[in-house]
Amino acid sequence: MVGVGSAVMGEGVQATPQLGCRFAARELTVRFGGITALDAVSVEVAAGEVLGVIGPNGAGKTTLFNVICGFVAPQSGTLEFKGKTLANVRTNRLAGLGIARTLQGVGLFPGLSVLENVMMGAERFRRAGVVSALLALPRGDRDERALRERATRMLAQLGCEDVAARMPQTLPYPVQKRVVLARALVGEPQLLLLDEPAGGLGAEDMQELGERIGSLRGSTSVMLVEHRVDLVMSVCDRVVVLDFGRVIAQGDPATVERDPRVLEAYLGSAEVA
Ligand code: ATP
Repeated sequence: MVGVGSAVMGEGVQATPQLGCRFAARELTVRFGGITALDAVSVEVAAGEVLGVIGPNGAGKTTLFNVICGFVAPQSGTLEFKGKTLANVRTNRLAGLGIARTLQGVGLFPGLSVLENVMMGAERFRRAGVVSALLALPRGDRDERALRERATRMLAQLGCEDVAARMPQTLPYPVQKRVVLARALVGEPQLLLLDEPAGGLGAEDMQELGERIGSLRGSTSVMLVEHRVDLVMSVCDRVVVLDFGRVIAQGDPATVERDPRVLEAYLGSAEVA
């Protein structure tokens, strides 16, 4: 559960006046014992914007995602989504709100086929209740068919339809990563959080991923946490740079790339090359 500062008023979204941006984190502070992972961090993502979040190891990028998803409760700060305060979010309610996240690595269910994994991402479109599904009532059957078709279409869009029946762990890593993306996109999220989607990918797969993310521009708000700075700079409208839990720079990629504070933060790390 996320307990978000003084705005905690119950689960879900509640009205506050906020126009112009689809998602905002305001003044988030997270401490783990003596470590301040986020220090009054504010980040906004406009509707249809692709925002990159970069920073050296330990900068607080994953913690930011974990707060948005309800894995970590901040000591203070607020979250806003579609003009409303987002309070007490539970991870299992994110999809229903229109938020999807991919994890570092893969995180597919090993006991489910590729198609079943992607169907899990489409659960929010299920109309019939669990009872109809369990008793195999016609309404439950129709629902199941619709989810299956939706998931199949998404796999086809990502060029993975031929592996629909396979178990994910039997697939090459780049294909697993595409399935992960299919599972996130099939729920038609309005906010998509991508946590190191390029990790472990070669140049060709990374280029395809960049094109895929770019194609979401204008329809889906994307937050992209990524160590592959070249990908971030080529695909993002705007970039936020974290270092030691603080926002040290933000702006368009060309400006951020030249910012001396950013160069200093990355000094000596592999990413700067
Ligand atoms: P990386 O790029 O290496 O994944 P990051 O930018 O995602 O790093 P975080 O994982 O958010 O950084 O970590 C920020 C700081 O908080 C680090 O100092 C980390 O060690 C610490 N931290 C994160 N999660 C926890 C936790 N559950 N308990 C204690 N400390 C944590």
